[in-house]
Amino acid sequence: MVEKVIPIRLDEGKGQMPSIPGQLVAAHALTKDTRGRPLRDLRISVTDRCNFRCTYCMPKEIFDKNYPYLSHHELLSFEEIARLTTIFASLGVEKIRLTGGEPLLRKNLEVLIEMLAKIRSTAGQPLDLTLTTNGSVLRKKAAALKAAGLHRLTISLDGLNDDIFKKMNDVDFPVTDVLDGIAAAQEVGFTNLKVNMVVKKGTNDQEIIAMAKHFKGSGITLRFIEFMDVGSSNGWDMSQVLPSKEVAARINEVFPIEPIEANYPGEVAQRWRYVDDSGEIGFISSVTQTFCHECTRARISTDGQLYLCLFANEGFDFKTLLRSDKSDLEIANAVMATWAGREDHYSEIRGSNTIDLKGIRKVEMSYIGG
Ligand code: SAM
Ligand code: SF4
Ligand code: SF4
Repeated sequence: MVEKVIPIRLDEGKGQMPSIPGQLVAAHALTKDTRGRPLRDLRISVTDRCNFRCTYCMPKEIFDKNYPYLSHHELLSFEEIARLTTIFASLGVEKIRLTGGEPLLRKNLEVLIEMLAKIRSTAGQPLDLTLTTNGSVLRKKAAALKAAGLHRLTISLDGLNDDIFKKMNDVDFPVTDVLDGIAAAQEVGFTNLKVNMVVKKGTNDQEIIAMAKHFKGSGITLRFIEFMDVGSSNGWDMSQVLPSKEVAARINEVFPIEPIEANYPGEVAQRWRYVDDSGEIGFISSVTQTFCHECTRARISTDGQLYLCLFANEGFDFKTLLRSDKSDLEIANAVMATWAGREDHYSEIRGSNTIDLKGIRKVEMSYIGG
């Protein structure tokens, strides 16, 4: 049972004001944080709202009608998101993931995608534009997303059994509609689709083999995500985490699998392939096998706060900078200075005895973007 907490957003959209160095330098991609990590990926949360109430992310008891969702003027506009993305691209960001909340609930999202598709990396290449969705309105949106220039899509689906899936989404949403959304994405020409399954021990782990069987040989990569202690509202405890190693062992018993090389340094998922050559699967083991040492991701919340870690409890208020008279160069320098000071490595210290992590209020995933 999740304990009801007073629903106040952590920083009420007012993170630390980023500092702009006195001496400005030209934007460049060489900035490293205090642990030597460059800035290469940006996740942008385009809405803090969602039509699902996944128990591990937006539990009903807390995200009810009294929850203080952001109002429209608090959200970054498409123009502000595109400006910020252009600045981040000038600093070496090559990959953009739109997320939320449920990103497809943001009105006219395809207009934003069209704007982002025009932005170039420091190497003069289009950015790798991708989006994570619960798939609920994908049938309606797939063609527009493709036409706007979205490259890749990840769909979340936590099981194939309706009762179990409904227990996870907590709004009675049927599996067939998500599967139909996936089919729609394939029909309009999306390839390399990924499906994310959060595994909560004792709730949906009995769906692991059915999911593997369903997506094996389909060309879609299924990825198993360890249930994480993001936010402060999902009642997380370690006993509900099924370590990826155990998930892999269960699959291996039925369908033999073997590990393969990462596509690039910093790839979040560990890649495995079916020995019979019928495709690959992935594991995102944020709890049991941390990957902070190569984490090159920054996150922009729905209201323009820059977060340096999924588990940060405070952001940097770039919305105020964007709405001031500051130039792109000044904002770029503020991002570089902020990144240079980044120390975050939460997953590595989660299990540490030297730090008391209990009672730290972390920001909600629906606000910061998963
Ligand atoms: N609404 C979209 C969706 O569900 O795909 C995008 C936002 S959601 C926050 C992004 C991803 O985070 C989803 O794949 C979701 O399953 C995952 N997620 C949310 N809460 C999580 C948790 N506590 N542990 C692990 N993954 C989580
Ligand atoms: Fe909504 Fe996605 Fe969170 Fe589920 S995981 S509640 S679909 S934002
Ligand atoms: Fe990156 Fe923070 Fe996750 Fe570590 S805990 S991988 S630093 S987001």
